[in-house]
Amino acid sequence: RAKKDGRNAYRFFTSEMQAQSARALLLENALRRAQERGQLSLHYQPQLALDADGDSRVVGAEALLRWQHPELGWVSPAEFIPIAEASGLILPIGEWVLQEALQQLRRWDDAGLPELSMAVNLSAVQFRHDDLPELVERVLADVGMPAERLELELTEGAAMDNPSVAITVMNELHERGVRLSIDDFGTGYSSLAYLKKFRVSKLKIDQSFVRDLTDDAEDRAIVDAVIRMAGALGLQTLAEGVETDGQLAFLRRQGCQAVQGYLFSRPLTADAFAEFVLAQTAPLSAY
Ligand code: C2E
Ligand code: MG
Ligand code: MG
Ligand code: MG
Repeated sequence: RAKKDGRNAYRFFTSEMQAQSARALLLENALRRAQERGQLSLHYQPQLALDADGDSRVVGAEALLRWQHPELGWVSPAEFIPIAEASGLILPIGEWVLQEALQQLRRWDDAGLPELSMAVNLSAVQFRHDDLPELVERVLADVGMPAERLELELTEGAAMDNPSVAITVMNELHERGVRLSIDDFGTGYSSLAYLKKFRVSKLKIDQSFVRDLTDDAEDRAIVDAVIRMAGALGLQTLAEGVETDGQLAFLRRQGCQAVQGYLFSRPLTADAFAEFVLAQTAPLSAY
C-alpha cells in the first residue's frame, strides 16, 4: 500500500512537472516570434519626485514590458522574463526594449512634455553580456538622446551575482553618463561593503516593505533605515508600490525623494502616460 501511494505521488509530481515544462516550452517558442509579430509593447509607469512643499510631480517613467499573445492572452513578465533569460531571448528583446523606450522618450520631447528620465529594467543576463556598455552607447546615439536621460534598473540579485564584474560594468556605464539604480532593494543579499563600491545613484525600496508600512513597525524601521543609509551614502531613494496616502505620508516624512505606485498611476500606454503628465502640468488658468 505504501508502495502504491508512493508511486501515485511520484506520478502526480511528474505530470505536474511535465505540464509546467510543456507550458514553458510553448511560451519559449511563442516568445521567439513575439517581437517580429508585434506582440510586444511597453507600458510606462510615472515616477514622481516628492517636493519639500508637499507637492509631487512626474519626473520620469519606468518602461515595463508587455506581451499579448493571440491565444494565450496577456502573459505576465513574472512568467515570461525568466523564460527569456534562460533561453537567451532576453538579449534581442532587451535591446528592443531599450530602443523603443528611448524612441518614446524622444516622441514625448517632440510632443512638448517636460524633460523626463526613462528607467529601463536590465536582466542579469544582459548585465553580464560583454557588449552592454557599447550597446547602450550605440542605442543612445542612434536615437539621439543624452545618456543622462536614461536610468538602468538592476536588481540587487543581479548586481551581487558577481560583484567584481558588476563594479566594472557599472564603471563603464557611469563613464558614459548613464545612471544606475538598484531595483527591489532589500530583497537580495547586498553586502553594505559593495554598496559603497557600486556606481549607483538610486535605491528602489522594494514594494514588499512598502505594502504594510502603516501597520508594521518593523517595515517602518527598515524603510527608515534604508532612507537614512542611502542619504549618508549620497544615494537617492524611490519607494515602489505606493498605494495609499498613509504610506505616502510616512515616506515623505522620512525624506524619501521619489515614489511610484498605483496611488498615482498604474503602468500606462505611451499616449495615456503623455495625457497623465500634461494634465498635471496644465496651467491653473485652464480650469
Ligand atoms: P519591477 O521592475 O520591480 O517593476 C515593478 C512592478 O510592480 C511592475 O510589475 C509594476 O506594474 C508593479 N507595480 C507598480 N506599482 C505597483 C503598486 O502600487 N502595487 C503593486 N502591487 N504593484 C505595482 P510588472 O510590470 O508585472 O513587472 C514585473 C517585473 O518584471 C518587473 O519588476 C521587472 O523585474 C520585470 N520586467 C518588466 N519589464 C521588464 C523588461 O523590459 N526587462 C526586464 N529584464 N525585466 C522586466
Ligand atoms: Mg524595475
Ligand atoms: Mg522593483
Ligand atoms: Mg520586481
